[in-house]
Amino acid sequence: MITNCDMELLGQIPASLLFKRVNDNVINANEACFNLFGVDTSNRDFPQNLRFYDVESGALLSEASDPFERCLSKGTVDVNVRICSPVRNLTCEVKGSLICNKDQQWVVLHLSNAQSNDFTDQRAAKNSPLDNHLAFNRLLSKISSKLINLNAENLDSLIEKKLGAFGEFSGVDRCYIFQFYQNGKLMDNTHEWVAPGITPHKEELKGLSADDLPYFHEVIKTQHLFKVDDIYTLPAAASLEKQEFERERIGAVLCVAIYLDEKLFGFIGCDIVGSTYKWRDHDVRYLKLIGEIVSNTLAAMSNKQSLEQVSNELAIANKQLDHLANSDGLTGIANRRQFDTKLESAIRRGIRDNDLISLLFIDVDLFKQFNDTYGHSAGDEALKLVARTLDECCRRYDDLAARYGGEEFAVILPNTDAKQAHYIAELIMQKMNKLAIPFEGSPGNNVLSISIGITTQKCSNELSSSILIDLADKALYQAKENGRNRIEETN
Ligand code: GH3
Ligand code: MG
Ligand code: MG
Repeated sequence: MITNCDMELLGQIPASLLFKRVNDNVINANEACFNLFGVDTSNRDFPQNLRFYDVESGALLSEASDPFERCLSKGTVDVNVRICSPVRNLTCEVKGSLICNKDQQWVVLHLSNAQSNDFTDQRAAKNSPLDNHLAFNRLLSKISSKLINLNAENLDSLIEKKLGAFGEFSGVDRCYIFQFYQNGKLMDNTHEWVAPGITPHKEELKGLSADDLPYFHEVIKTQHLFKVDDIYTLPAAASLEKQEFERERIGAVLCVAIYLDEKLFGFIGCDIVGSTYKWRDHDVRYLKLIGEIVSNTLAAMSNKQSLEQVSNELAIANKQLDHLANSDGLTGIANRRQFDTKLESAIRRGIRDNDLISLLFIDVDLFKQFNDTYGHSAGDEALKLVARTLDECCRRYDDLAARYGGEEFAVILPNTDAKQAHYIAELIMQKMNKLAIPFEGSPGNNVLSISIGITTQKCSNELSSSILIDLADKALYQAKENGRNRIEETN
């Protein structure tokens, strides 16, 4: 056990100290340290209940990695840690060293530069209110410049990081945003930051009803501010609120309503866990500013998302319109309009690349008779099958099968010589044979047949769409003249 003499020696030092004997687990605190944590010196167990957390990761430091142990293994220690007690939680700079006293080795930790659970008191002691205000302004501009670059994917985590920056600046234990919905009847805890060692509650605080916290709702809606220095001073009407704060070990709470476009959006709040705190006017002002920045960001994000949705819908509608305007209603392949445009551009590209171009004209044989025999709808079905067949034979990206009109079709084959064009025409013929649409009296063995006219031309400034069409049509006429169900070419 520590001797009285030792106690006196360390107790005389006005700085806050934690100390323990090497090879002993009992942690001792001097009076300044008891005061720092707001604990009465009669509470002897207090030092044993301290827990140390890593400031960066928030992870609990085990006995093997706490500042005592680090000091023991290295001889000295200088770290920032969050020290949580059942009463107060403080972020401290801990400097430690090994001290030899009366043949006893001691690890002594000096806790300094503590940001207590006070927004500004500690800082005010060292810095002027102006310094503090400037520091807050720097934080504010940092937060707003980060939030200005909207990106839906990481926005939520970015907001929580910013709440954390503010929470650390203020020395509070928890900082959060709640959003109202269904006309303020329900609310969700949407974003939360907690100091190391503090239990987060965001996940369980979803879909909270106004009836669960009626006093709070009334105050935030009418006074736009819910400021409680000590939850035990809440009036009897706030019994449900008190219960909830006790459950979360909240000692003091500050919430500021957030309005967007003059509508109540939600509120931003922060908690002090385990102790009371006297909130100041500037605490409210700072919190309100942070709340406005965050909610404006959320609103801008939601506007951006709706705008993106509308523009996506518009793009889809335009695509559908484009498709409707350029495709044939019966067969679904390109219509005459698209054919004209594509033929023009294929010739232009052919001129530029000094290419050949082939055009196929296709006409269904004796189709009037087919309609007369099998009916107009059977005729329609046959046209759909012919169109599909032609489309299947367009294998390259810029090949195009189109319905030219009635029972006439065309196939544009850019950069295709006569031999390749002939090959495609043969392929079409074979596929038509395979389709085997019954047609008694057809020129093609009692199945519906087609005639194909081909022309292949060198692309040049002398070549136009109409010349190419006339040449293909002439070849088609030749095929009809020569008995139908055949391929003819013109040069
Ligand atoms: P040919 O071998 O000389 O081309 O004889 P044909 O009977 O096919 O030629 P014609 O030009 O005399 O007849 C074309 C027929 O195609 C007449 C028309 O009713 C039919 N037709 C045109 N468009 C459609 C359509 O969308 N659906 C149906 N079912 N028939 C159509
Ligand atoms: Mg015909
Ligand atoms: Mg015809």
